[in-house]
Amino acid sequence: MTAARQPHPPVTGPGRRLLVWRDSCHFNRWEDKPCVVCDRPTPLRSHRGEPVHKVCAEDWNTAHPTEVRFVSDAEPKSRTKRDHA
Ligand SMILES: [Zn+2]
Repeated sequence: MTAARQPHPPVTGPGRRLLVWRDSCHFNRWEDKPCVVCDRPTPLRSHRGEPVHKVCAEDWNTAHPTEVRFVSDAEPKSRTKRDHA
């Protein structure tokens, strides 16, 4: 057991929805900012540009099931290959 300080207990199980953040807009490689949930630095960004760890966003969503703050990427309608340069 670790004594890590957390704003709320981690929630796992069937009620938890995982976010899909594959888009590069969720990753700022230039700047870490304090996560809005746990206050530790993160390069990750929500769709709104809020700095937040993906797991923290998932925790937040689980704790606030009626609010829409952190959402998954929209599924691409057409299958396009993303070539890596
Ligand atoms: Zn966090």
